[in-house]
Amino acid sequence: MRLTRYFLPILKENPREAEIVSHRLMLRAGMIRQQAAGSFSWLPLGKRVLDKICNIIREEQNRAGAQELLMPTIQSAELWRESGRYDDYGKEMLRIQDRHERDMLYGPTNEEMVTDIFRSFVKSYKDLPLNLYHIQWKFRDEVRPRFGVMRSREFLMKDAYSFDLDYEASKAAYNRMFVSYLRTFDRVGMKSIPMRADTGPIGGDLSHEFIILADTGESAVFCHGDFLNLQVPGADVDYANDAAVADIVNAWTTPYAATEEMHDEAAWSAVAADKQVAARGIEVGHIFHFGDKYSKPMGASVTGPDGKEHPVSMGSYGIGPSRLIAAIIEASHDENGIIWPEAVAPFDIALINMKVGDAACDQACDELYAALTAAGKDVLYDDTDQRAGGKFATADLIGLPWQVIVGPRGIAAGEVEVKNRKTGERETMPLTAVAARFG
Ligand code: ATP
Ligand code: MG
Ligand code: MG
Ligand code: MG
Repeated sequence: MRLTRYFLPILKENPREAEIVSHRLMLRAGMIRQQAAGSFSWLPLGKRVLDKICNIIREEQNRAGAQELLMPTIQSAELWRESGRYDDYGKEMLRIQDRHERDMLYGPTNEEMVTDIFRSFVKSYKDLPLNLYHIQWKFRDEVRPRFGVMRSREFLMKDAYSFDLDYEASKAAYNRMFVSYLRTFDRVGMKSIPMRADTGPIGGDLSHEFIILADTGESAVFCHGDFLNLQVPGADVDYANDAAVADIVNAWTTPYAATEEMHDEAAWSAVAADKQVAARGIEVGHIFHFGDKYSKPMGASVTGPDGKEHPVSMGSYGIGPSRLIAAIIEASHDENGIIWPEAVAPFDIALINMKVGDAACDQACDELYAALTAAGKDVLYDDTDQRAGGKFATADLIGLPWQVIVGPRGIAAGEVEVKNRKTGERETMPLTAVAARFG
């Protein structure tokens, strides 16, 4: 992509409304634009990151046996009356009427709708386990939308829903999602810590929030330092082996970790003082087992091996990709801008032509662009007539992992400079070696 053709509305000034660094940098880097309180357009650079994140989530959901579908954003109030949540949900739910004065709502979550799909088609335990997910916009009329896409009103969510015959099987389903979350957050370059979360009136121990540590996080969190060195399961994790998956969950739930609401001073004081990490965190994912909370009132049951009807045991599993992007930036930036982990960077390489119009520089850049693109890299080619200093500032701000810098002096010697955005390390190499370096 040539920068002269790319829609990248960089802001020179720090936007005053942005209180935290991720919000500021997303606005400055031209990733998002606010349209109303808590509502944002994703501009091309932001959309590229969103797509990368969603693809990683998708791959890990699929690997763990979940299947993607897509449910509507607008839902009928009828379904929510069946579960009893239409009245319970309160003001966070955006309620709408259609032209026939039928009550509708913009979905804040999809338990009711997915339960309706399930009960319409699945009648036998032989069709279980089943896990269905989608990646779809949600609307929650938050009391205090703030921090940009971190807490917005309209936001993207991956929500998965598992259906099983009994508690034991649904616990195995829960464990698979637990492991897939560990892998997902690891792949986007983040350390996430699963923390016991409140299960509310349902009780039980099957609810975890996945937290990324960051000073600007909204929750106070307490965890054992060992989490920072725990091994994340590899791509070869055997999801068909319930015991092996349970072992991983066990390892990741043994050291102490809790958010403020679940914090237990007695257990905390048993953690060695030099291992106590009291910090702030961002909730990027949440998994929850709730049994027959929806299947019972909504009549979602299957015939078991005993020939009897059983309401299915369910769980739900959410990740906020839009919030996750903000959390990544909170955890990965410096005074010059964003530092994208390679897996989610909007482009891999910023190709910087320091002297557009210089025949040798232009030609070298054209060749590099073609070669890097052929090597499968996403390249943003700064072919604008800005001064070199401005180009470096832009490249640092938008945080692409690599900069390939082409200037007249280097080219005269057949050389270019390659800079790593994260470490700041620079390396001079022959023009002809660049494509192989990234191949
Ligand atoms: P919070 O405690 O921050 O209000 P929540 O517990 O209400 O979040 P869940 O219902 O658990 O959220 O939704 C699953 C995921 O969706 C969250 O872990 C988070 O990543 C994301 N999410 C929830 N609310 C928002 C929001 N207002 N803006 C952006 N992402 C959100
Ligand atoms: Mg909430
Ligand atoms: Mg929460
Ligand atoms: Mg939650």
